[in-house]
Amino acid sequence: MIKLYTEKVECQEIIDDWKDGFMKAMILEKITKVDENSSPLILVEKAEREPGISEVLLKVSTCGVCHTELDEIEGRTPPAYFPIILGHQVVGRVVERGRAATKYKTGERLGVAWIYSACGECNYCREGNENLCPHFQATGRDADGGYAEFITVNENFAYPIPEVFSDAEAAPLLCAGAIGYRSLRLTELQDGQNLGLVGFGASAHLVLSLAKYMYPQTGVYVFSRSAGEREFAMELGARWAGDISDVSPERLDGIIDTTPAWKPVVEALKNLNPGGRLVINAIRKENGDKDYLLNLDYPTHLWMEKEIKSVANVSRNDVSEFLELAAKIPLKPEFQEYDLMDANQALVELKTRKIRGAKVLRIE
Ligand SMILES: [Zn+2]
Ligand SMILES: [Zn+2]
Repeated sequence: MIKLYTEKVECQEIIDDWKDGFMKAMILEKITKVDENSSPLILVEKAEREPGISEVLLKVSTCGVCHTELDEIEGRTPPAYFPIILGHQVVGRVVERGRAATKYKTGERLGVAWIYSACGECNYCREGNENLCPHFQATGRDADGGYAEFITVNENFAYPIPEVFSDAEAAPLLCAGAIGYRSLRLTELQDGQNLGLVGFGASAHLVLSLAKYMYPQTGVYVFSRSAGEREFAMELGARWAGDISDVSPERLDGIIDTTPAWKPVVEALKNLNPGGRLVINAIRKENGDKDYLLNLDYPTHLWMEKEIKSVANVSRNDVSEFLELAAKIPLKPEFQEYDLMDANQALVELKTRKIRGAKVLRIE
């Protein structure tokens, strides 16, 4: 059952008396364009979920806001059903457990990432590449996510959050950080080789710090069309920062592209060393500048065994390994906080690239 609330006054009432088996949630009812509709999500009161036999019910405290939510809202990677609760960088505490869920105690703080479930039986799953499983299900796209007071998840797809992080610091690590870690692994970079980061949002700013820790001799070169992002990159220790079309002062051995566009990919390829690899970290590209691909010049951009590879989803190992590594550094993301009911504002700002670090929703 769903009740619809549109007035802020009523929102406050929901916060005051949710404790009756109902929860508030920001839901998406249909595909829409954020350019034309600045309130794609609607605040509702919804029946609270019961944990399934192997599931835990988490009381959500924080949920990160990811560019993938825009891809879901605008239909590039459409949700499996409507209405749906988005959000896949979820931090919460166990309040109830299914009969067979014994791994975690009540009160324990857990995170939920993009991978909500996988079959566990196919060749991909057996080889540890469950991110490529044909039955891969994503949190907040194929199952209700964290833009809500509660979430249920199989206990084997939840991760203890290292103590060193606050809830808000941990949330962006669960997607932006974990997929950044996978992207960095897929570049196959070696210490001392040059790394390029194209676009400098939530994921790239974490990758910069991660790369400096994992590959201390490596220089990081950042490409961004935003002067603010370039400045931020230099503050965080980039060796150089330039515009998207600029030629980097040194050739690069690995590049990670985190932009939603095509021009940055074509422009970055000219900076790649022979045998270098460009990894595209985007679940979908937008089609706005797809024509730019016609500028692809084989000798300049691809000849000499340059490679392009996409990074798809994350495995549970990526998330666990990354959280452990991030706690050691410790890697604390820069973030801006919004109330759950201001999720639309956060999404619009993400769309219009008003970004400094990560965006998280506070849900208490
Ligand atoms: Zn994400
Ligand atoms: Zn599988």
